[in-house]
Amino acid sequence: MKALYLEDSYLKEFDAKVESVSDGKFVVLDSTCFYPASGGQPHDTGKLIRKSDNKEFKVLFTGKFESNISHQIEPENELKEGDEVHGVINWERRYKLMRAHTATHIVSSLIHDKAGAKITGNQIALDKIRVDYELEEFDKQKFIEYIEQANQILKQDHKVTISYLSREEAEKDPDLAKLAMGLPPGLKELRIISIGEVDRQADGGTHAHSTKEVGDIEFIKCDNKGKKNRRVYYRLVD
Ligand SMILES: [Zn+2]
Repeated sequence: MKALYLEDSYLKEFDAKVESVSDGKFVVLDSTCFYPASGGQPHDTGKLIRKSDNKEFKVLFTGKFESNISHQIEPENELKEGDEVHGVINWERRYKLMRAHTATHIVSSLIHDKAGAKITGNQIALDKIRVDYELEEFDKQKFIEYIEQANQILKQDHKVTISYLSREEAEKDPDLAKLAMGLPPGLKELRIISIGEVDRQADGGTHAHSTKEVGDIEFIKCDNKGKKNRRVYYRLVD
């Protein structure tokens, strides 16, 4: 199974063959550009069109199970192993999630570098983005300043590039240690997302080509989640 979005996050359509169908509705393809929910980035939706009769199947959810990407389709009990399909993702949804994901790396990087905080979680949604981090102090004003600084960086047209590093090399690189949980477990080779000279993170998600495509972000609110746990919400302006 080939995950086409890892190399080209702008791929919107693709041709594939059905490798397996479980419970009549969970479809694994030989390749896909549907992103499975992971790393704080929500799943793609879209459709699969069976080539033999042009019948359309909605893709309601995409998830990763035992290293396979599974597409939950509707209607059920029709698509069969061996069927040839044309897949189309809901690009409007995905593109907004990509822009949000790139913004998240900039914001996490600022919180990490300026406040010295480890990032404990990220959850991206279409209407808001949540970042959790560990820090003693709780200062809403500082966070509002980070958002302003992030907007300055986003405007600067930093290019987003993908590269690969062995785990051994990645472990020696302090830039890649922003997440409290460390590098993703179980991978020998890590995919590194670099945003110009501003940020580098080990990451399996999809990103915009440049920070300029993200546009502006705006602060929503801060929550105090206990002694050291801070949670902030922000969103894309459009
Ligand atoms: Zn990421």
